[in-house]
Amino acid sequence: MHLIEDHAAQAQIPVRFAASKVMEGDEKILERLKLTEDLPGQTTVLETKEAPWRIAGEVLRTYIICESEDGSVWLIDKHAAHERMNFDKLKNAQEPPMRQTLLAPIAAELSREDGALLLENLPLLEQFGFACEDFGAGALLVREVPADIDAADTVPTLEEFAERLRTGRSPDEKREALLHTMACKAAIKGGWKSDISELRVLVEKVQSGEVQFCPHGRPVKAKLTKYELEKMFKRA
Ligand SMILES: [Zn+2]
Repeated sequence: MHLIEDHAAQAQIPVRFAASKVMEGDEKILERLKLTEDLPGQTTVLETKEAPWRIAGEVLRTYIICESEDGSVWLIDKHAAHERMNFDKLKNAQEPPMRQTLLAPIAAELSREDGALLLENLPLLEQFGFACEDFGAGALLVREVPADIDAADTVPTLEEFAERLRTGRSPDEKREALLHTMACKAAIKGGWKSDISELRVLVEKVQSGEVQFCPHGRPVKAKLTKYELEKMFKRA
């Protein structure tokens, strides 16, 4: 993507993000901040003129820091935002999820109780993109998993499915709960290193207001207005 400077190219670009410019407090500052100087572990972003926001960075590999044109500072929980996007996509999907065939089928050793419950629900697992069969003694042989899910997450996902199936009261509630699990497992995780282009997609969705709460109802963003910041520093 043209938005991302690769590191080799970056080294050639003079950094124009001088401290004096930031101090001016000019409204046009966003326009002039074409480049942000690299901090350790962060990537320089070349912003487009069109976006009314810019990503200032990411902290704790979990929260995106973003500045919008009105001078507000946003902290965005990348996992929560991605989970909501996934959830909406899965919920509105007309087709079953894309699958990946595992090179080596996984023998999921589950508790007898979990194994039995999942075996009773094989058609439902199919609908969610898991092709499994009985492997005896509570174990399931998993041949296919949803494409969005890391194969290494197969067993934890199935265990969570079993838990959701056990606690769900109605078929609808169970379905919804399984969608939650899928959305969560397919989302980028807090603590993961993310590509700036992935973060931009999430920020776009949050800034547009399309994504506001994670499927569990937790907020995906916290916003500080310029005035709130000024008050914190006794400037206002
Ligand atoms: Zn989650």
